[in-house]
Amino acid sequence: MGITENTQKVDIFAKARGGFARAREAEKMGIYPFFIPFDEAEGTIFYHEGREVIMLGSNNYLGLTTHPRVREAAERAVREHGTSCTGSRFMNGTLTLHLELERRLASFVGKEKALVFSTGYQTNLGTVSALVSRGDYAVADKEAHACIVDGALLSFGELKRFKHSDMEDLDRVLDSLPDEAGKLVIVDGVYSMGGDIAPVPDLARVCRKHNARLMVDDAHSIGVLAEGRGTAAHFGIPEEVDLITGTFSKSFASIGGFVAGDEDIMHYVQHNARSLIFSASLPAPNVAAVLAALDIIEEDPAYVRRVWDNANYMRKGLAELGFDVGNSQTPVIPVIIGEDMRTIFFWKALFEAGVYTNPVVPPAVPPNMALLRTSYIATHTTEQLDRALEIFATVGRQMGLIQ
Ligand code: PMP
Repeated sequence: MGITENTQKVDIFAKARGGFARAREAEKMGIYPFFIPFDEAEGTIFYHEGREVIMLGSNNYLGLTTHPRVREAAERAVREHGTSCTGSRFMNGTLTLHLELERRLASFVGKEKALVFSTGYQTNLGTVSALVSRGDYAVADKEAHACIVDGALLSFGELKRFKHSDMEDLDRVLDSLPDEAGKLVIVDGVYSMGGDIAPVPDLARVCRKHNARLMVDDAHSIGVLAEGRGTAAHFGIPEEVDLITGTFSKSFASIGGFVAGDEDIMHYVQHNARSLIFSASLPAPNVAAVLAALDIIEEDPAYVRRVWDNANYMRKGLAELGFDVGNSQTPVIPVIIGEDMRTIFFWKALFEAGVYTNPVVPPAVPPNMALLRTSYIATHTTEQLDRALEIFATVGRQMGLIQ
């Protein structure tokens, strides 16, 4: 008997035929804002279809992706080690260079040991899923990054959320959990969309009350807060944060991530984080780029100072124009528009006028809170920032968003 197609049984591709409907619609209207290709990307200026665009949407906070020392370190590492480790840290993929970076990072953030992963996403995914076992709880801020949520979903424990930076709600959630359950509270140090700083001393106090451990994702704070050392250092309490995670794809001008904490906890994570054990390790040029970026950050505080000067200049400039910049305290500055389509049309008009921003619509933000995420680089020039403000003013007025 031959095998024939059974058309009554559902084809898993049925939902995907015709593509993703919402994106197709936006493509048809000529306002699709994602996966935009850039021909050339040199720090603060990008080129799209031959047009120069000011980049207000990158996470290259210190502008080190094009620093000669970082480029040179990566080039040298390619010559010495080649392009890939072709295996996981667990097996053939650990270089002495990874261990050197781990020592440097641990000392930079004030922890006993650090562990290097191949992306920031994998760091949180692996760390949370390794530590939250059956019967345990991951308790994450409502605005914590997707990879924290994914780590909790991958774990055998349960995920609970608390209202953004709301200590009363965190206390209530922790109170509702059984005493015998392990609890890991997870927050972003600097929130990736709102640009606000997590209230770490208050979080630590509530965690202590419930014997919960505190993990802070410093993706947007490492290289930015406290001369680059992150959120715990910003508040002067590195010992009160049990686990610090970070990424290399932002201030550290590379790709990869790390978790830092007590030596025995790192030893446990190292032997249980599936995203570390079952995925190839960070290639040497990327490790070398981070080491070079760390050297620069430690030797020359001007980079951190400049990203703050630029961010403060723009926060003031945008607010004075009449834009709502929310509760931003850092180089991440949202411009809150509200309605989705208005936000996308504003994004498009700004892009055509020569400024790239990141449009953020629900579900990434609550309904009617659509925004343009802008972020700043130490190497933006005042001329570039003034030009960007001019474009914001002209387009904002044309669209009736400001007076
Ligand atoms: N955490 C936060 C808060 C992030 O914003 C991001 C990336 N945008 C990540 C983790 C993941 O980092 P990576 O891109 O290095 O995987």
